[in-house]
Amino acid sequence: MVGGNMLSYLPLCFSALLAVTVGAEVLMLVLNQHSSTDRYLQLTLFVALSVNLMGNVCQFVRNDPSIRGVFLHPVYAHGWRFCDQCETQVPPRSAHCFACDVCVLRRDHHCTFLSTCVGFANYRYFMGGLATLWACLLFSVIVNGRIMGILLLRDGLGLRSLFCFLVPWLMWFIGQLDSASFVFAFIADTCVAALLFVSVLLLLHVWLLVHGQTATEWRRGDWGTQRSILYMLRSWLGHRWYLVGLSPFIRSEVPGNGTEPGVPVPSPQLLQSQGSKEL
Ligand SMILES: [Zn+2]
Ligand SMILES: [Zn+2]
Repeated sequence: MVGGNMLSYLPLCFSALLAVTVGAEVLMLVLNQHSSTDRYLQLTLFVALSVNLMGNVCQFVRNDPSIRGVFLHPVYAHGWRFCDQCETQVPPRSAHCFACDVCVLRRDHHCTFLSTCVGFANYRYFMGGLATLWACLLFSVIVNGRIMGILLLRDGLGLRSLFCFLVPWLMWFIGQLDSASFVFAFIADTCVAALLFVSVLLLLHVWLLVHGQTATEWRRGDWGTQRSILYMLRSWLGHRWYLVGLSPFIRSEVPGNGTEPGVPVPSPQLLQSQGSKEL
């Protein structure tokens, strides 16, 4: 984790609390399966996904993507610039994060949920964690959906069932839903909303990855690439890019140390601004 004050840890605490609550509820549902085969299969999947997610989160937070501790050897002709906040020359594709108060190598964005920046050193764990989170949420939605089907549709399909699913807090407040059903419905709704959000996030980052752009560069509209998708996967996820989704503990070294310009081609605007600085 990179710097920050106590307030910056609040989203992290909230994310952890939400994950533990949903995880405990899903585990309870899995353990209450009638069929022992289903129970063991789902328990195995639950443990594998949880370990993978926790491993990715720990590695993501542990691997500092900032310029701290990195030997910076500026080559001014290749887009190095001076950061006023860090008071040093920083390489191309790095950007200053005001939440972390430091420049981050090949900065993608600041992950609010984990209070950590996404950059060169931890990008592989970010993508691995995001993909695993998507699988966890899909698993939670399926497990909860089964219980929701039993609890909410026991009185038959109708407007009441629909309202219980869409606004469980309101139905519980007016006494139309018992507390246990409310908890299941509320967590199921949260999982569905989170699954939709994470799906969009995952698709966006896969699109950026194969185009060789960080989210920062995408927002600014600079840096495109003419390299192949395979080259991009190796540059961002490492030489074992095809295994990083399986486990965060599989070694997959990314070429370079994040200070090289990399393979992208600067936009005409960037080349123009660099040209005017050199004159
Ligand atoms: Zn800086
Ligand atoms: Zn940051």
